[in-house]
Formats: sequence, structure tokens, C-alpha cells
Amino acid sequence: AQLLQIKDLSVKVEDKEILHNVDLNLNKGETHVLMGPNGAGKSTLGYALMGNPRYEITDGHIFFNGKDITEESPAERAGDGIFLSFQNPIEVPGITLGNFIRTALEQRTGSRIRLWNFRKELKKAMDILQMDEEYADRDLNVGFSGGEKKKAEILQLLMLKPSLAILDETDSGLDVDAVRTVSRGVEEYQKNKNGALLIITHSTRILEALHVDATHILADGKMVASGDSSLVDEINTNGFEKYIQQ
Ligand code: ADP
Ligand code: MG
Ligand code: MG
Repeated sequence: AQLLQIKDLSVKVEDKEILHNVDLNLNKGETHVLMGPNGAGKSTLGYALMGNPRYEITDGHIFFNGKDITEESPAERAGDGIFLSFQNPIEVPGITLGNFIRTALEQRTGSRIRLWNFRKELKKAMDILQMDEEYADRDLNVGFSGGEKKKAEILQLLMLKPSLAILDETDSGLDVDAVRTVSRGVEEYQKNKNGALLIITHSTRILEALHVDATHILADGKMVASGDSSLVDEINTNGFEKYIQQ
């Protein structure tokens, strides 16, 4: 069944149109990869999908589970089950990682979650990500290394189990071991057949161990190619050159 339909979407940032009539269709349980050179508009698409008010939709529609969410607020979209992992996660002093996730989970489900059960689930997810349990009691992202911030994002993914997760360069700036750990976390999320992924990346290391259903290439704010997972290998070999020359 169709989960996300992006139809003819144009997005303006600070008076400049960045995305031009973008289309993308993604079904439940699928993993799609969005690639493209720097400045192509990949993050812009992520923010527009999440409803960031700085990214103004000037044309087109976004449908999620058949519902037009083009005008919905970020909070409503999060409630619908859309999750965006940030390229540069922000530090939030005064809220621990554990409490942040528990509150988000309670908001999402609308019911209270027993601390003991929560801690048990959290520990399981942290083990997969090879995160020390004490990180749950540290302020969200404060003093976390780049790799730890990315792991904290994947931890949210595993705990919140959104129906669509958009991962924006979750692999950038990570060493080989951290990429492998993050990739293992994403693989764990893929096991949940109700979830779907849109992985934004311009490297391909994170994809090596993951099943990919479709690949899309964005260049200059336009969708210029779509294909299966073999498109990832093609980009790996030849780069984006042929897609940026007009
Ligand atoms: P990508 O993620 O593919 O590297 P971005 O979506 O970050 O590309 O950026 C696409 C274009 O939009 C760039 O030219 C960038 O400068 C511009 N842009 C993105 N966000 C903003 C913003 N908040 N303010 C001004 N320009 C922006
Ligand atoms: Mg149009
Ligand atoms: Mg980006």
C-alpha cells in the first residue's frame, strides 16, 4: 500500500525556489535512497516533508497514508508517524536522552509508559547500538561526539518506531565502526515491516548491508533519475557527473 506520495512538489527557501516539481512514491515497508550532489536540495526535501515552516511549499502536494498533509504542522506529521533524523542533531540541555524518548513515546501513543518496561526496551536498543546505558541519563546530545549524536538519533528511531523515517546523512562524519553500528540499527528498524525508510546520503557505506527497494537522484532541485539498488552502484562508480550536465 502507498505510504508516501510526493506530487509535483515545489519548495521555496528565503524567496528562492529550491525544489522544482518533485515526484516520489514510496510504499509501506520499503527502503528508498535519495542521492545527489551537494546543494541538490536533499535536506530541503526532508525539511519540507517534516513541515519545517522555513521551507515554503509553493506547488504540489504531500500525501501520507492517503491523507493530504501538505498543510499540516510538524507536530501533526510526527503524530502521523513521520520521523526526520537531523544531519546536525541539536544539543538540548536539561532533558536527558532517556526522558526525551519516553516523553516522545508517550505523546505518540497517548498513554503513560511504565519506567521499568521503558528502561528494558531502551537497554535492548542501546545494546544493538553499542551505547553505554549511562547515555540515557545524560542531557540530549550535550557533549556527545558526532558518532554518539547519530547513534542517539537511531536510538530514537528504534524506540519510536515511526511509519516513515527520513535519515538525512546519518552516516556523514562517522568512522567505519560507527557506520557499521548505525547501519545495524537501521537494519533492526527494517525488520519492523510497518516501517519505511527514505535514506538521504551521498556516500554509500551505510547502504552496503541494507536492503534497498528504490533509488532516486536529485540534482539542481529536480528528480533526474530513479531506479533499483543498482543505481547506487552506478553512482559509486561514475559519480553524479552525467546527471548534472544538461
Ligand atoms: P543538499 O542537502 O542536497 O546538500 P540543501 O537542501 O541543503 O541541499 O540545499 C539546497 C539549496 O538550498 C542550497 O543552494 C542551499 O544553499 C539552499 N538552502 C537550503 N536551506 C536554506 C536556508 N535555510 N536558507 C537559505 N538557503 C537554503
Ligand atoms: Mg506544478
Ligand atoms: Mg543536506
